[in-house]
Amino acid sequence: MRLAHDPTAVASLRSPTADDPWRILVSGCLHAWPCAIDGTDYGLGPALGWLRALPTARVVPFCPEEHGIGVPRGMPDLHGGDGFAVLAGRARVLDEHGTDLTPAMVRGARAMVQRALRARAELAILVDMSGACGTQVISDGCRYDDPRRFQVGVGVAAAALLQAGVAVVAQRDHRTLGLLRARLDPGFRPDPTARDHHQGDWYVETFGSTAPGGR
Ligand code: SF4
Repeated sequence: MRLAHDPTAVASLRSPTADDPWRILVSGCLHAWPCAIDGTDYGLGPALGWLRALPTARVVPFCPEEHGIGVPRGMPDLHGGDGFAVLAGRARVLDEHGTDLTPAMVRGARAMVQRALRARAELAILVDMSGACGTQVISDGCRYDDPRRFQVGVGVAAAALLQAGVAVVAQRDHRTLGLLRARLDPGFRPDPTARDHHQGDWYVETFGSTAPGGR
């Protein structure tokens, strides 16, 4: 389930407590891991500082690309379909040099699922636009092409997590993250004007509607 696409999803989650916190898988770079293609965290490390400070959340970081390919690495992007298509053998992952990273990306995705299952993760907060972690939008072919093309859909690791029954949400799904934070911290008041990625201006201009795509 993609939490941003189901208005009732967050309310239906069990109530977290300090004794029994939500177990939340997060993209490693959102946990300040230096696991990006260039050994940085893409500047995302501070994004979930609020989550790490809450006793009602247990954060489980993982990077599927670091696991499958290593650091540094080329930029893995999907060609011919989304993450589900890659897992089904109908699409491939190539870097900007044309190197086929498909087996390594699938290996990293499977390892992320194993990490999630070991931790009994109830949901995952992932980085959108990533060929592994994307949950709303990913590149359609190499992102360094001009113009860059996009597709509505999920990356390889996100697809594997969804197939394993782990709910996912993007770091850009601000409406849903606000609702999740209010469940974790009853004193928090979510911004009623916040929007999820598929409700934003860029998404509408790029894809022509707010309709979320894929499964
Ligand atoms: S694969 Fe995911 S966790 Fe790793 S650097 Fe990319 S977005 Fe971050």
